Amino acid sequence: EAALDDAFQTLLTWADDVRDIGIRANADTPADAQTARNFAAQGIGLCRTEHMFFDGDRVDLMREMIFADSREGRAAVLERLLPLQQSDFAEIFQIMDGQSVCIRLFDPPLHEFLPAGKAGMRELADLLDVPLAEVTSRVEDLTEYNPMLGMRGVRLGITVPEIYEMQARAIFQATVACQERGRTLVPEIMIPLVSAKREVELVQAHIEAVAAAVHSESGVDFEYRLGVMVETPRAALRAEDIAEHAAFLSFGTNDLTQMTYGLSRDDAGKFMSEYVKLHVYEEDPFHTLDLEGVGELLQLGAERGRKGRPDVTLSICGEHGGDTAAIAFCRAQGFDYVSCSPFRVPVARLSAAQLALVDKLG
Ligand code: PEP
Ligand code: MG
Repeated sequence: EAALDDAFQTLLTWADDVRDIGIRANADTPADAQTARNFAAQGIGLCRTEHMFFDGDRVDLMREMIFADSREGRAAVLERLLPLQQSDFAEIFQIMDGQSVCIRLFDPPLHEFLPAGKAGMRELADLLDVPLAEVTSRVEDLTEYNPMLGMRGVRLGITVPEIYEMQARAIFQATVACQERGRTLVPEIMIPLVSAKREVELVQAHIEAVAAAVHSESGVDFEYRLGVMVETPRAALRAEDIAEHAAFLSFGTNDLTQMTYGLSRDDAGKFMSEYVKLHVYEEDPFHTLDLEGVGELLQLGAERGRKGRPDVTLSICGEHGGDTAAIAFCRAQGFDYVSCSPFRVPVARLSAAQLALVDKLG
């Protein structure tokens, strides 16, 4: 078994010498980051930060923040979240040891943070020490008909800028700490669910202000890259002017598929096998990247993005990122890297090498 392991490692090293597209991993936890490292991913292409707030005390803190009715109230909760976020990022930076880490700012569908049922609301009322009726009416206000098309991603970031400010501060303070230990790091900050250039401008202004504050407090120089996740058709169509403010564009093909088809990613599974059986679709587009419709948006977004910024970094970070067909497509479009689940990294490295070899050897 050890010999097989060694042989496989050697094969992967050869594959890395041949391939001409980068392979990163999607990782939100130190354990995922460690797996990414073990499989020699070239950094993290997507760190979903909302996943850091799903558990225990943190979900309570997040709810406290959502339910706070003033800027001061939110700031008090965010102050308690800041050291937790900072240590999340510091740990991941340490594991990745100087490799690129792309952190996506908070992208919750809000319903995932609302209390469930009467019992959940009662618990929250106790936690916040407010009457149950107050919680019930606030949950009613916040409940959306289509949460996946509602107050998500950058929309929340713009409406409640303190959240992204806290995250940016955590990222920069962790970067400064990392640099003080002698390791240079250029963190990448990614804005989710963008559909307009103005959204990027607004978030950029907040992030620049936080960077300037951390710089003057610490006296440490650091750099960072700000980029945009392209996961609405409009972001792909408007990629030229969006890229003026974005060092990188990363295509989130889960949402992009959902929005291109107008098909819920959480419900499609219920009838997709029937659809495929009837040849309405050749494949489940959430499973296999739709190279035609969604692919055309990728191609168009890449072309327009390059018009706005010729050296814009291009990548894909949806679940499709590890598929050979998607890798072939991204490679043909001249993308810089694909990012996939950590366990898919070795096969992605082999697939990318095979594609390069076929091109070379015919
Ligand atoms: C995506 O939409 O493709 C994506 C990677 O983001 P998430 O799956 O977290 O919505
Ligand atoms: Mg998404």
